[in-house]
Amino acid sequence: MMSLMWQTQVNLSSVTEPSHTPVFKKDGSLHYIIQIALNVTEKVRAGDAFTQQVTINEEQAESNKILIRSNDKLNITQKELEATINQLELSQRRFQSLVREANIGIIVLMGPEMKVEIVNKTYGQLIGRTVEELLGLQLFDIIPEAESTFRPLLEDVRVNKETRNYFDTPYTVYNGDKKIEGYLNLVYQPYIEEDQHITGVIVVCQDVTEQVRSRTNLQSAYEQLRLAKDAAQLGFFDVDIVKGTLEWDGRCRELFGISHNDVVTYEKDFVTGLHPDDRERILAIIDDVYIKAVNNGIYDVDYRTVGAEDQQIRWIRAKGQAYFDAEDRPIRFIGSVIDITEQKLDEIRKNDFIGMVSHELKTPLTSLTAIIQVANLKMQKSDDAFIAGAMEKATVQVKRMSNMINGFLNVSRLESAKLSIDKQPFDMNELIKEMIHDTNLTVSGYRIDYEDCNPVLINADRDKIGSVITNLVSNAIKYSPKADQVEIKCHVKENQFQVSIRDYGMGLTEGDKDKVFERYFRVEGNNNKHIAGFGIGLYLSAEIIQRHHGKIWVESELGKGSTFFFSIPI
Ligand code: ADP
Repeated sequence: MMSLMWQTQVNLSSVTEPSHTPVFKKDGSLHYIIQIALNVTEKVRAGDAFTQQVTINEEQAESNKILIRSNDKLNITQKELEATINQLELSQRRFQSLVREANIGIIVLMGPEMKVEIVNKTYGQLIGRTVEELLGLQLFDIIPEAESTFRPLLEDVRVNKETRNYFDTPYTVYNGDKKIEGYLNLVYQPYIEEDQHITGVIVVCQDVTEQVRSRTNLQSAYEQLRLAKDAAQLGFFDVDIVKGTLEWDGRCRELFGISHNDVVTYEKDFVTGLHPDDRERILAIIDDVYIKAVNNGIYDVDYRTVGAEDQQIRWIRAKGQAYFDAEDRPIRFIGSVIDITEQKLDEIRKNDFIGMVSHELKTPLTSLTAIIQVANLKMQKSDDAFIAGAMEKATVQVKRMSNMINGFLNVSRLESAKLSIDKQPFDMNELIKEMIHDTNLTVSGYRIDYEDCNPVLINADRDKIGSVITNLVSNAIKYSPKADQVEIKCHVKENQFQVSIRDYGMGLTEGDKDKVFERYFRVEGNNNKHIAGFGIGLYLSAEIIQRHHGKIWVESELGKGSTFFFSIPI
């Protein structure tokens, strides 16, 4: 365009059109230029008109280009508009499917008549209706029973144009005979048009029935626990073995004579708080609690504490459970403690009384035994058969009575930790034979079979092990009123000497099998009613065996008989 403009200003009187031709040397450098000039004035004049025409054409072309460009832009804008519309439709479809598939209930209610404009499946399910049953209808025509609760809430949002949140709102609706009750978390939002005019309410609701019920149950369980804890005056402890921390509640602190709320530690507060006479025993038990294989983490003990601040001695019953990780390493140990001081003192008094009575009874009984033995010797020669027999019977009865009294005395000694174990080496085989012989003196009509085992030297308390054998054999006879045979066997297995006493008597139920070794336990039932006993023989036997680091147990079948076993290390 600029070059055309310049050419139109040239003087047209003598316009020449020069031509320049370069001539080069052989080496390619410029040698000279041939210039030829021609008169082209006419040609230029004609060209001028042409140039003007060209200019117009150029301008038209330029306008055309602008037009094309605008058109292109228009096309692009059109395409963008279409894309935006598509996008909008997609978003709308997504929004609709979001609303439809959302697992929270959504409903849009229009106007004061609360006409359902939009509703999703979840909302329908909440009130037991399908989307089709709701769309386009007035909500409270469908669920009139919910109107009194929900209309005021909706009206409030419509009138005040403010979003409201309601939590754990109870609701009841009926779908035919089906009553739907539950709890909802609700968000009510005004549906505002562009002109700020409010046309409806958007309701978003979530069914929280399960959460509310679980929370209520939890709260009531917690409340019950709190009441039970208060009533029983229970204290709690919690040992985090991994972190090495100990937590005691107020009651637990009280039982250790602590009034502060500062951090407590296992060593400083628990170990130190234990009575010196109980400390070693309890710490050994806790060591075992932390070994899963020993007792599956179960803890159940009695011990004394010495109050840290008041020095008061209290008796405590503690029950707990240790928890283990996948590799059976202990991670946590929790439990409860209760004050049993009163109960323990009562028991101690009762026990002391039994001990004292037994002891007092024993003295005259010992004299009586001696007198009867002498009388028996003298009267054996008597011609009077009755008198000779009577003395023998009196000996048996006095021996029975003295066994009973010894039993009570031993229980009393056991309870006051005065039952001593006096170990001496002896031959177990000999002892068993001796006990069988003694038992045979007092019973008749029974056959006691014993397979003599090789002499085995055992280091144990001969008298006490003897009393265990006597007790098991006399029970085997006592609880087999219809049988006449008892079998005793013994054998050595893995450094343990094991004795078994088998009877064909009344046997035991599964439940009773575990309890027979408890103090004062006696099986209840018609069969046992007339059999005398105090439920202390097996308890004592178990304590004696335990003090020898042995084991005692029973295998039994009701109505078929029992086999009692005990084993002690050689
Ligand atoms: P006692 O015989 O004085 O009652 P024990 O402690 O020796 O006390 O026994 C406890 C209970 O175990 C008995 O009362 C009885 O019910 C039951 N029992 C013991 N031995 C046997 C047995 N061999 N067969 C059946 N039951 C037995």
